[in-house]
Order: sequence, then C-alpha cells, then structure tokens
Amino acid sequence: MLNAFEPRVVLQEVPGEVSLAWLVTGCPLACDGCHSQHSWNPTAGTPLTEARLKQWLERYAGLVSCVLFFGGEWDRHGLLALLRHCRSQGLKTCLYTGRERVSGLLMAELDYLKTGPWRASLGGLDSPHTNQRLRCLNTGESLNHHFRRAP
Ligand code: SF4
Repeated sequence: MLNAFEPRVVLQEVPGEVSLAWLVTGCPLACDGCHSQHSWNPTAGTPLTEARLKQWLERYAGLVSCVLFFGGEWDRHGLLALLRHCRSQGLKTCLYTGRERVSGLLMAELDYLKTGPWRASLGGLDSPHTNQRLRCLNTGESLNHHFRRAP
C-alpha cells in the first residue's frame, strides 16, 4: 500500500493539463539535495487507497484533466490500480519518477512520464543541461521546452 500527502491542484507540472498531484511517500532513491526529503519515510502521509483517490476525483470532477503521481513506481501493482482508476474516469495520467525507466505495464497506463533523478549540477526541467525528461507517451514528444525560461 502506498501512502501520500493530501493532493493539490497544479498547473505547470504537466503542460496543457490541470492536474491533481499526489506526493507519494517512500521514495527510495535518496537523491542528494532532494527538495522532498520529508516524503522519504514510507509511513508519512496516509494510505492512498482507491477509495481515497475516488473521493478526491469526485471532488474535482470537471475541474482537473490529469492525475499526477510524484513517485509510487516502487509499488507497481499499487500504482497500476490507481492509474487504471484514473483512466476509467476519463482522466489522463502522469508519473514523475527519479528512475531512468519504468516497466511497460506502467507505461501502458500513463499519458506522460518524467524520468531521471535530481542532479543539482544539471538542474531540473527548466535547465538546458538537465538529465531529466518529460515526455508525452502518446506522441513521443519531449515536453522539456515548456519549462525553459526565455533567455
Ligand atoms: S527521485 Fe525525487 S523524491 Fe526521490 S529522492 Fe530523488 S528528488 Fe527526491
């Protein structure tokens, strides 16, 4: 069972989508300089059950177009069930992972995927030197350019 903090609505993390974003706790990657170290403890937050997800999706029905999970891929079956529920409600899905790749099973339930660990020297999606990639899995398009600031 995955745990997560209370979700929030975000506008920038998935370009063109209004996303209900869940910070899943228990990321095992321990990137140096991680901004979310408070989420490393897998017992932080509360259980992200399908019932809890459903409740939030009902609350934001018609207001959000996508559900974004920051992590959770370490419990593949748990995350798959949540992604499938989102899609059954006609919503798009996105995963931000620090890994370089995730399983084909997960990719089949995702519309967007951000890969790559945090490396302070390379920066995040807004950096031209970043090791991270955000892709639309339906088109294969890289979406990193949406994060670049004008020079
Ligand atoms: S993948 Fe993200 S949440 Fe996990 S340790 Fe790295 S920066 Fe932190």
